[in-house]
Amino acid sequence: MGCLFCNILEKKIPADVVHEDEHTLAFKDIRPVAPTHVLVIPRKHVAAIHDLGDGDAALIGHVMLAARTVAKKMGLEEAGYRLVCNDGDAAGQTVHHIHVHVLGGRNMSWPPG
Ligand code: AMP
Ligand code: ZN
Repeated sequence: MGCLFCNILEKKIPADVVHEDEHTLAFKDIRPVAPTHVLVIPRKHVAAIHDLGDGDAALIGHVMLAARTVAKKMGLEEAGYRLVCNDGDAAGQTVHHIHVHVLGGRNMSWPPG
């Protein structure tokens, strides 16, 4: 079946895209856990944060900067927002293509569940 998020990148699976650039794609999460819930992914397939190499600083930097742009675009900047990156089983990672969750539109609790 391949990677779900690579299939979204290749437009084989539809997504509600909110932002895209040369290095990243951002689309609404299909099961939102906050009023705004967007996923930002790199166009290059890397399964998880722990698979990043020392040469991937620009890749993950582009993802974080795109997350910032998405938050601004979605009107979250003033109130604040949370960026989440689940890495591996204990964190609950279910899709094995790096993604940053941009969560906002409500107050967040700490510590996270
Ligand atoms: P994680 O659990 O951190 O790996 O996050 C994966 C996220 O992908 C979950 O929040 C899912 O709701 C979301 N998701 C799964 N399939 C889709 C899809 N087809 N379109 C958008 N979001 C998806
Ligand atoms: Zn992928």
